[in-house]
Amino acid sequence: MWQKLMIFLARSEKLKIFFQSRRQLHQLATRFVGGQNKNEAIKTVINLMNEKIYTSLFYLGEYEKDMIVINKTIHSLQQMSKLLSQNNLDIHISVDPTQVGLQIDKSKCYKNLVTIGKKIKENQLKQLDTSKKSFLMLDMEDSSVYKETLNFYNKLKEKEIPTAITLQAYLYQTEEDLKNIIKSNSAVRLVKGAFAENKTIAFKSKEDIDKAYRKLATLMLSDEAKKSKFYPIFATHDDKIIDYINKQANTMGWKKNEYEFEMLFGVRVNYQKELVNNGYKLRLYLPYGKDWWPYAIRRVGEKPQNIKYLFRN
Ligand SMILES: Cc1cc2nc3c(=O)[nH]c(=O)nc-3n(C[C@H](O)[C@H](O)[C@H](O)COP(=O)(O)OP(=O)(O)OC[C@H]3O[C@@H](n4cnc5c(N)ncnc54)[C@H](O)[C@@H]3O)c2cc1C
Repeated sequence: MWQKLMIFLARSEKLKIFFQSRRQLHQLATRFVGGQNKNEAIKTVINLMNEKIYTSLFYLGEYEKDMIVINKTIHSLQQMSKLLSQNNLDIHISVDPTQVGLQIDKSKCYKNLVTIGKKIKENQLKQLDTSKKSFLMLDMEDSSVYKETLNFYNKLKEKEIPTAITLQAYLYQTEEDLKNIIKSNSAVRLVKGAFAENKTIAFKSKEDIDKAYRKLATLMLSDEAKKSKFYPIFATHDDKIIDYINKQANTMGWKKNEYEFEMLFGVRVNYQKELVNNGYKLRLYLPYGKDWWPYAIRRVGEKPQNIKYLFRN
């Protein structure tokens, strides 16, 4: 019920306009968002890099049907990839397929992903340091767009565009797809899953989802994954799971810089610092842009205590 309420709040256009126009809600916005424009965002990226924290940039917006907004998103991400390259940073950009046209037309959406991906590749080639982890990272949205997102990923890889994909541990289907992806030189970001899915396709209890996450994480750290130069990305704030992953990685001979953790900007900040101080590689999902309400209210959905940032104002 809580999850559904939060999804409703995130998708209501009227509420979005109402809340985004309230200056008093600045604290909620800045807690989870890296800046209102690309220049503010790049400052945040550089500040985080000074603390040895990597980032994945996300231009705010989702389930978009307006071509003007979609073109603005593509333009901003292209400019961002140039800025990151000029500052000698990883060009790691996260995109929701529905923010670049999936709800309008599949082939248009694919073309838009190619445009962003090609720009990342072009700017990556300009950098001297080739060891950087630069990717167009496809976020995974609700199950209605799962197959199409996977299809885009495969086609982008065929085109030799540096692409990675997010997979959700709660979906039964994930294990089979992950096993196939692991066989190739690729990268997967594993998350628990954030949408209210039906029990016919997804695990529902925290216990089952955590169990699935551990199982999939073990596959991502297997000998087969290592041999194929697979790059594991574990996107979770769950310290018990992170401890499990680190032990498993150590047992399987993975060095600390051969896999990474990814968390959300503004979530469990002290724990983030602790991981970095212990020598682990950490990346933060860093949203930027003016359309912050749907994103911020989702963070409240994940952790009801975050509602304090709303009420404090
Ligand atoms: C980098 C990144 C990318 C993601 N991309 C996707 C995606 O493409 N598709 C998708 O479906 N989901 C995505 N998610 C969301 C993910 O599926 C989970 O919903 C979310 O990460 C919470 O799960 P958890 O693994 O942190 O574990 P949980 O068991 O939910 O939480 C573990 C611990 O972290 C704390 N915590 C978790 N969230 C918050 C928060 N918002 N504020 C404060 N504390 C918190 C909890 O209280 C708990 O102590 C992404 C998450 C991350 C970190």
